[in-house]
Amino acid sequence: MSKSDSLMIKDKKLKIAVASGKGGTGKTFISTNFFTSLYLSGHSVTIVDCDAEEPNVVEFVKGTQIDRVDVSQKVPFISQDNCVFCGKCFEYCNYNAIMFLPESKFVKVLDDLCHNCGACVEGCFYNAISESDWHLGTVVRYLVNNSSGVIEACSDVGIYSPVPVIKRALENIYNGTIVIIDSPPGISCPFITAVNKADYVILVTEPTPFGLNDLKLAAETLKKMSKPFGVVVNKSGLGNEDVYKWIEENNVNLLMEIPFDREIAKVYSEGRMLSDFNEKYRREFLALYDRIKEDMEKYD
Ligand code: SF4
Ligand code: SF4
Repeated sequence: MSKSDSLMIKDKKLKIAVASGKGGTGKTFISTNFFTSLYLSGHSVTIVDCDAEEPNVVEFVKGTQIDRVDVSQKVPFISQDNCVFCGKCFEYCNYNAIMFLPESKFVKVLDDLCHNCGACVEGCFYNAISESDWHLGTVVRYLVNNSSGVIEACSDVGIYSPVPVIKRALENIYNGTIVIIDSPPGISCPFITAVNKADYVILVTEPTPFGLNDLKLAAETLKKMSKPFGVVVNKSGLGNEDVYKWIEENNVNLLMEIPFDREIAKVYSEGRMLSDFNEKYRREFLALYDRIKEDMEKYD
């Protein structure tokens, strides 16, 4: 990396995803305390809650709602009155989203599989297919102060995939702020969608065999995506040393450790922010941002 590239990273407002291979590692604890430390220190920062099936950032970060956008997509509907059961729509659909049983004179769109490409509507010569809006969820924006805020993606219950709602939330990022993306747990499509927007990923883990297993899976996925990442170990002192051995052997940056501590667990369970009143942790979360910028200088 050239000197000018390194200077660009120092000045750039980074997009940082906070992720974990599994739920329950304290991912939201880290992302909300990171956000709070940065904005209380005068940074402009946006936190995007992409855990769309169970968003809970606003339980910890209080803001004033400024707007709410519905997210929907068009889905085709087949009128059995007009349909002659020719099967053209079934042939046109590349996503196996149409069930067609000619002998039974049955044709139906499977909403969850539909990619809204419109091919079936074009393919039907009998005006049997119309389109209607299917509500998928909402994106709500909150202001925390005049330069920082929260964007919350929330998918409706029973929706096949929260990805369209997450994508919409990420389109709403405020320009010119540091962005923290609270990613969905796991390593499937919602995780990929969320971390894909990030310049850097913090993987939160705990020093247990389950924590290590999920950390390895998430790290493999990020390597395939060529995403720079480092690790925060939450609840350190619990479990064993295997996570630390893996971090060292794989030359991964250990960004921060949060001890296994009853007082911290109590603060979190009461929906309070450690960085609101604990100066030491506020400084540590600010140092985390500097460590990430330093770590990024290693990457081309
Ligand atoms: S293309 Fe139209 S008429 Fe033919 S099966 Fe599909 S909906 Fe029915
Ligand atoms: S809109 Fe596209 S994906 Fe959806 S049912 Fe029609 S052809 Fe299939």
